[in-house]
Amino acid sequence: MTPLPQLPDRIRGVIFGQAVGDALGLGTEFMSVDEVWEHYPEGLSTYHQIIQDAHRSRWRQGDWTDDTDQFLCILDSLLEHGDVRRLDIASRFLDWSRTGGMGIGRSTLKVLSLPGYTTEPEKAARYVWERGRRDLAPNGAVMRTSILGVWDYKDHQRVLENATTVCQLTHSDPRCIDSCRLISGLIACVLRGEQAKVHVPTDIVAELDPRLIEHIMALQGKKLEHHQLDEPDRIGYTLKAAGAGWWAHHHAPSFEVGLLSVVHAGGDADTNGAVAGSVLGARFGFSAIPTTWVDGLNRRDELLERADRLVALVTA
Ligand SMILES: [Mg+2]
Repeated sequence: MTPLPQLPDRIRGVIFGQAVGDALGLGTEFMSVDEVWEHYPEGLSTYHQIIQDAHRSRWRQGDWTDDTDQFLCILDSLLEHGDVRRLDIASRFLDWSRTGGMGIGRSTLKVLSLPGYTTEPEKAARYVWERGRRDLAPNGAVMRTSILGVWDYKDHQRVLENATTVCQLTHSDPRCIDSCRLISGLIACVLRGEQAKVHVPTDIVAELDPRLIEHIMALQGKKLEHHQLDEPDRIGYTLKAAGAGWWAHHHAPSFEVGLLSVVHAGGDADTNGAVAGSVLGARFGFSAIPTTWVDGLNRRDELLERADRLVALVTA
């Protein structure tokens, strides 16, 4: 039997799982399953295969996208301050958006563009959500918050609070908040070695939005196709991304097979890949991620350096 990955390997797995899921998922982002197979008849398994259309050619093959850029805003703030500082994270989101912010989602852009964002980000997020008739529940928060499952992982309540805090910097909908709490809480459970206790979403968070519970429960024991990640009018929906992560955790036999299933399901595949990748990285560890995916990342070394610093802080 393969030995269980150790904590440092799992922590590195969350960071690299996020980045490789994002970088490979870009290859099928916004495609239907049929289009995925039209573009990649042999399947997509390396960054070099990623087709260079107008959307994708903005990044180099092997670059991660906005999902991991924002994940790193959070991680860098944690590494610098040793604490979750909401206004510091908010100002890092804003700085990133002003210096390119490539791939930024519509809803996040609206929130960051409001005057007063840096002092009252939650108010800006709430304003945009209310203007959208409280119907907007995009995946722009859950795509970046997996790292909060690592920070303070021993204290489950703290993990859930941190996920809520960082979600609300741009997203107010309870489905967005609960997606972040579910995924960060799941990662923290795995890091504590308690994954065997997790069967239903309320094992992670006792009180959850009923729409999230219903969505996740409908996936239990089902194939990923049942999740319809490429459903046209629901492509960027937060519950799709959270569901991809939940599904991968419960059904994937390995990091590689799990991530490839999600990537080949199309839809918002870089985000779904980032979420599923970080969850799978926690479960199977960095050492289980195919070397070509790690080494093919254009910015691998800076990620390694951050991972080492985080491991040192978290395991001290
Ligand atoms: Mg993206």
